[in-house]
Amino acid sequence: GDTACEEATYLAGLAGKVYLIVRKPYLRASQIMQERVMNNPKIEVLFEHNAVGLFGENGVEGVHLVKRMGEPDEEKIDLAIDGFFLAIGHTPNTDIFKDFLELDEVGYIKIDNPTSKTNIEGVFAAGDVADPHYRQAITAAGMGCRAAIDAERYLSEKGL
Ligand SMILES: Cc1cc2nc3c(=O)[nH]c(=O)nc-3n(C[C@H](O)[C@H](O)[C@H](O)COP(=O)(O)OP(=O)(O)OC[C@H]3O[C@@H](n4cnc5c(N)ncnc54)[C@H](O)[C@@H]3O)c2cc1C
Repeated sequence: GDTACEEATYLAGLAGKVYLIVRKPYLRASQIMQERVMNNPKIEVLFEHNAVGLFGENGVEGVHLVKRMGEPDEEKIDLAIDGFFLAIGHTPNTDIFKDFLELDEVGYIKIDNPTSKTNIEGVFAAGDVADPHYRQAITAAGMGCRAAIDAERYLSEKGL
């Protein structure tokens, strides 16, 4: 999907060679992201490949791949690599809240921007569970600060 194409394009700016391992025979990413990947000479897309394990003595030295897994012409391939990055999309870990808090269609907790208020008074949300856009350590920390201030104000208003 878009996540993998974005990460591969980013990594191609840092690495000499990037393999994009795709289980299906096609990419699900948007057209523009696919074009960026396909037009990048440093990126090689391995369609119909499954990564089934990593190997190496002092770190990652390679990946075990299976091409056309489960098909009659299935093929096992070992590929030398220095790093392995997963980019398989995001599902917020909010299942336990779904009966109580309002979530969006993907599962992110809805907050009353720019505050951290949720649909339940006195419950505040911060970080990746409530952020479909940035999902970074620094933005999560900033949201945590906002939630702490909101909680403190809420308690003060209640005289608690
Ligand atoms: C591979 C990878 C690379 C990344 N690289 C960067 C980077 O370079 N720079 C950057 O800024 N950000 C990066 N991020 C994003 C960054 O890690 C997150 O944005 C940040 O950790 C979000 O913080 P958070 O506190 O919202 O969630 P998390 O850090 O995910 O913390 C959630 C915590 O809740 C706990 N938890 C879950 N369920 C329960 C439960 N039921 N009860 C109690 N506790 C529970 C979890 O164990 C976890 O400790 C990266 C993320 C990944 C996955």
